[in-house]
Amino acid sequence: MPPGVDEAEALLARWRRLREELDASGVRLLAVSKYAPDRAVASLASAGQRDFAESRPQALRDRALAFPDVEWHMIGPLQKNKAKYVARHAAMWHSVEDVDTAAAVARHVEGRVLPVLLQVNVAGAAHQHGVVPQLLPALYEAVDAMPQLSVAGLMCMAPKEGDARAYFAKLRHLRDALANGSLRPPSDWTRHEARLGLCMGMSGDYRTAVEEGATMVRLGTLLFGTSYRDGEQRSLP
Ligand SMILES: *Cc1c(COP(=O)(O)O)cnc(C)c1O
Repeated sequence: MPPGVDEAEALLARWRRLREELDASGVRLLAVSKYAPDRAVASLASAGQRDFAESRPQALRDRALAFPDVEWHMIGPLQKNKAKYVARHAAMWHSVEDVDTAAAVARHVEGRVLPVLLQVNVAGAAHQHGVVPQLLPALYEAVDAMPQLSVAGLMCMAPKEGDARAYFAKLRHLRDALANGSLRPPSDWTRHEARLGLCMGMSGDYRTAVEEGATMVRLGTLLFGTSYRDGEQRSLP
């Protein structure tokens, strides 16, 4: 048996098990491929995985060009000078945290509307990415006013320390508050209400996130395993 066959089968077995579990809850699985080699992406794509995610804009562009038949989600921090990669190649941009960067991406979007998620700094910690909850309504209104972008929900990362469940519940409450009007929703709210998703949960905490209402989870290590990281790691997060 050629080397790599066992590895590919183990990957597909993990993927099928996770898909079964997540499909049962109606949750979308994003395969976070930042540490995984092309051959692993190729096997999942040919098995039917549709959604992949990268945390660096150049990696997103490279992979979107190499694998144009699946969807590429941008999940990492973005600087304005890389805005065009996301505008051109992302199926969804999960990490919107400020108006200027959103406007820079919007300027490069051509001939489509790009769905985005607002990343919330649920812990309010200085070193964490995302908009603090107090500024979420203003960011929502500013981004929603950009015709090239459409707000599809909220995203967060639970801080490593602390109770992940409480942070996921907080993100859900913020989404619900946007929906029920206590956080100044846009006047034509009914247009949005039904479709605001919650992207939360990673390898260590995705089950908790699903229990708290996640509609999408981002799985890297648990899906791809750790073996790629030691061998031919292709990019840093
Ligand atoms: C790397 C990364 C993930 C996946 O993390 P795992 O713990 O390996 O599942 C999820 N979300 C973001 C934003 C990431 O950068």
